[in-house]
Amino acid sequence: IFRILDLPEPQQGTEILSGDGLSIHLQDVHFGYDEEREVLKGITLDIPVGSFVSLVGESGSGKSTIAGLLSGKNRAFNGNICIGETYLQNISEKSLMEQVTVIRHNSYLFKGTVAENLRMAKEDATDEEMIAVLKKVNLWDFMTMQKGLKTELLEKASNLSGGQCQRLALARGLLHNSKIYIFDEATSNIDIESEELIMSVIHELARTKSVLLISHRLSNVVKSDCIYMLKDGVIAEQGHHELLMAQKGPYQKLFDYQNQLEQYGKVAGA
Ligand code: ADP
Ligand code: MG
Repeated sequence: IFRILDLPEPQQGTEILSGDGLSIHLQDVHFGYDEEREVLKGITLDIPVGSFVSLVGESGSGKSTIAGLLSGKNRAFNGNICIGETYLQNISEKSLMEQVTVIRHNSYLFKGTVAENLRMAKEDATDEEMIAVLKKVNLWDFMTMQKGLKTELLEKASNLSGGQCQRLALARGLLHNSKIYIFDEATSNIDIESEELIMSVIHELARTKSVLLISHRLSNVVKSDCIYMLKDGVIAEQGHHELLMAQKGPYQKLFDYQNQLEQYGKVAGA
């Protein structure tokens, strides 16, 4: 145990992120969870301020790993990651947490009131601020039918639907008001109304923030400024939707395949 305690602490940065907006730049980033297998094999990508960038690719291709690197979860990578003008390894943990919000498909909601859950993002949030974000995600009417901000959630918010959980997680993310937002499959496995609402809030956010959307459903990424397609740990293709469709590569194949499935679903469901 003493030998473990004596191990050097991972180096912590001290720089504080500042500026009106924060871009993200990855340059030739390599990363593996263990030495045997590299998961990211030289990723270069850019997320300019006020842009909406999407990351797509098969399950296991490394999308969430990139989200993990950007939120400071895994710091043992090679290559460069810059947020704004600052190298990721020099940024203080606190500043990174303030400026990067990650919303996952199963964001953690705990037993307690709605207000307590929201205040995780902003300790001193006022009732007005909390109500404003709940209205934005179309949850406030539902909450007023119960106890408003004092509505009690069960463990993992099991008394809400999947779509409501995700909208509450989004409300909490909005309250955090960071400069960077990463949505990792934030609309997976939820009802279509919730999905559409979340997508419209994401599009609005992208006007002023730097937004990275990770989605396996390509219909959600069509309007992105740039789409990166990840395959086996490298960027196989990049560009906007029309360009990638014209290229007739892996993106176009996956898009047409998903489109066909959805058309089939509509016919079968009718
Ligand atoms: P995606 O989000 O694109 O589905 P991930 O980034 O989650 O893919 O995973 C990429 C690869 O890294 C997969 O092969 C996965 O098994 C592996 N991986 C993910 N998380 C871990 C972890 N914590 N430890 C070891 N391997 C992991
Ligand atoms: Mg993932």
